[in-house]
Amino acid sequence: NNRVIVVGGGLAGSEAAWQIAQRGIPVDLYEMRPLVKTPAHITDRLAELVCSNSLGGDQGTSPAATLKAEMRLFSSLILQAAEKARVDAGSALAVDRDIFSEAVTEAILGHPGITVHRDVVETIPEGPTVIATGPLTHEALSLALQDFFATDALSFFDAAAPIVFGDSIDMNYAFYGSREGTDDYINCPLTKAEYEAFYESLMAAEQHERHDFEEARFFEGCLPIEEIARRGPKTLLFGPMKPIGLKNPLEGGRRPYAVVQLRRDNAAGSLWSLVGFQTNLRWGEQKRILSMIPALRQAEFARYGVMHRNTYLKSPKILEPSLNTRKRADLWLAGQMIGVEGYVESAASGILAGINAARYVKGLDPVVLPRETMMGALFYYVTHADPDTFQPMNATFGLFEVPEEIRAVKDKKERRERLKARSLAVMTPIAESLSVEPEAHHVQSQ
Ligand code: FAD
Repeated sequence: NNRVIVVGGGLAGSEAAWQIAQRGIPVDLYEMRPLVKTPAHITDRLAELVCSNSLGGDQGTSPAATLKAEMRLFSSLILQAAEKARVDAGSALAVDRDIFSEAVTEAILGHPGITVHRDVVETIPEGPTVIATGPLTHEALSLALQDFFATDALSFFDAAAPIVFGDSIDMNYAFYGSREGTDDYINCPLTKAEYEAFYESLMAAEQHERHDFEEARFFEGCLPIEEIARRGPKTLLFGPMKPIGLKNPLEGGRRPYAVVQLRRDNAAGSLWSLVGFQTNLRWGEQKRILSMIPALRQAEFARYGVMHRNTYLKSPKILEPSLNTRKRADLWLAGQMIGVEGYVESAASGILAGINAARYVKGLDPVVLPRETMMGALFYYVTHADPDTFQPMNATFGLFEVPEEIRAVKDKKERRERLKARSLAVMTPIAESLSVEPEAHHVQSQ
């Protein structure tokens, strides 16, 4: 069989399909939406962003910027689409979610090597297959995977933040600014008394019922605000409501007691999302409590926050660092379901799964990326962590084994610069050797 089936047209599946087709191997991509919906997706577009419109840091030496720099060496489809859809967000790569997923959808539909099937896949297909069905994998396929691997699929819970209409924000009580000195965020300050009243209401607010679980397991990077608040009356002031680095021009440039930041959610600036304000409160309660923030008294909500199950597999038991399964050399897994966390990490795993699926069909050995690279370190981690305590992981320098000469560097920034430079030096020749044929397809520029 010289075709590859890709199941799931999300961040990882779209990237995988693109990478395979760019290497001259035909792809059948199966996406169940709009036939079957998920609890978080709203549109029928490929690579829909279910929550934040930020793809994380993209400048300097942050781990997220390092990961993106590596992915660009592989001409990542997701990052090319993000570039077309970029909105101002300081050093982060934030996008207009509609333009972004439309760009991915167009690129995939327009690729002569990819056939898109709008259908749900309920069993593991025969022949070369990449499965990238994400944290909200259709139940029938989840059961099939559990059955096949004879291992418990784990789950935890992720929450999404609310989005408000820009023209309903009262700018008499808000100001533009960021911790980096740009004007990219709308900041909604609260006085001490306003914060305390907000906190009290939040603690007393009603949550949505948790259906199929008794004890919620959250991913630490995506805790709902009510969960953070439960950890102490001031915890929010060190988390999503931290005022540090912000000066309120309405108060003579003084630092506010607490702040809620809003990030532009679309290019037009008509939608703004509450940064770090993912929540599982009942919708009525979200409106009531968030209206206690002076600038949001009249706010109209384009979307309320929600919380969802997030399923991932015990990769350390079932997966190789080349992302093919131990049980079947022609079956690759990618995306959030392998236990990477985040849009970009998911897409990164789609790159490697796609490259290796194409290589398999061509009769070539699978590639494992070196652990000096962010992608290599991440895929090593998810395939070698302790299976009993395994939790989804995002890109971080903590995944690197840092050599003594870099560890000895005192300055943190310089240490990071060295680590980033090392990863790119290692990855560049690898990416070149795995590059696509010159006649490959290109994402249309606007
Ligand atoms: P997805 O992008 O979800 O793609 C999987 C695709 O497979 C979907 O299109 C789905 O419809 C399809 N599918 C599922 N089952 C089948 C089937 N059986 N047959 C055919 N198609 C199928 N990450 C961030 O970086 N920032 C965030 O703010 C963020 N918020 C999140 C909020 C929520 C509620 C959830 C659940 C996750 C969030 N994540 C976030 C985590 C993660 O990065 C995203 O879920 C990301 O989309 C994962 O990419 P993926 O390709 O693995 O899955």
